[in-house]
Amino acid sequence: MQLILMGPPGAGKGTQAANLVKKFGIPHISTGDMFRAAVAEGTELGKQAKACMDAGKLVPDDVTIGIVRERLSKDDCKKGFILDGFPRTVEQADALNKILDELGLQLTRVLNIHVPAEDLIERAVGRRICKGCGATYHVKFNPTKVEGTCDNCGGELYQRKDDNEATMKNRLSVYEASTKPLIDYYSKAGLYTQIDGRQSIEKVTDDLSRVLSSVG
Ligand code: ADP
Ligand code: ADP
Ligand code: ZN
Repeated sequence: MQLILMGPPGAGKGTQAANLVKKFGIPHISTGDMFRAAVAEGTELGKQAKACMDAGKLVPDDVTIGIVRERLSKDDCKKGFILDGFPRTVEQADALNKILDELGLQLTRVLNIHVPAEDLIERAVGRRICKGCGATYHVKFNPTKVEGTCDNCGGELYQRKDDNEATMKNRLSVYEASTKPLIDYYSKAGLYTQIDGRQSIEKVTDDLSRVLSSVG
């Protein structure tokens, strides 16, 4: 299964991808996670990405397309993958078509987690991530049993630097201008399905799984 999980920032893409990985055993490819890892390691890529991420802008298409091309060419993607946060522009979507053509693969489905703008800032500002295993929590909607400590691994939680109200406003306007056109793009390709992301995490996973069992 070759999947794209779409949705505005804070919609629940990462949370749902983690649940789908458990069900389907295919790799989760998050460009945001790849950029954050590069920033943490202080690599050249990290230096290029950091300023854009901190400002809530997109990392340039050529850089982003390059890391996705490299990742999708790895052997573990032959059995399928879940792309999370890529593509985010029409140029990225065109490039993805080319990469998949070269690899002899086709998209199975594009799943868009729909959450209205008014909920997204609260979701992002309350988001907490485990330093140890990367698990995602929310201070109100998905809290850990012990405050500040991961349920899975006991790791310490942190807040992303870009998960503040000002940066979120930029990220939401970038989404409207650059990423939303992909809804039309993938609808025309007959690949698009929208899921109501305003339900519980479990219910959203159920809805996604139901769609996937009918197409996969
Ligand atoms: P994205 O990857 O789309 O930015 P995340 O999966 O990181 O989104 O979720 C953003 C925040 O919202 C996290 O704090 C997460 O725990 C929380 N969240 C995810 N799904 C839901 C949901 N269905 N209801 C309420 N909060 C959610
Ligand atoms: P969210 O979970 O809130 O949707 P991500 O973790 O996917 O955010 O992305 C965080 C940041 O990383 C983005 O604001 C952007 O700066 C950069 N980024 C991630 N994916 C892409 C992409 N496909 N194209 C350009 N920039 C990206
Ligand atoms: Zn953890």
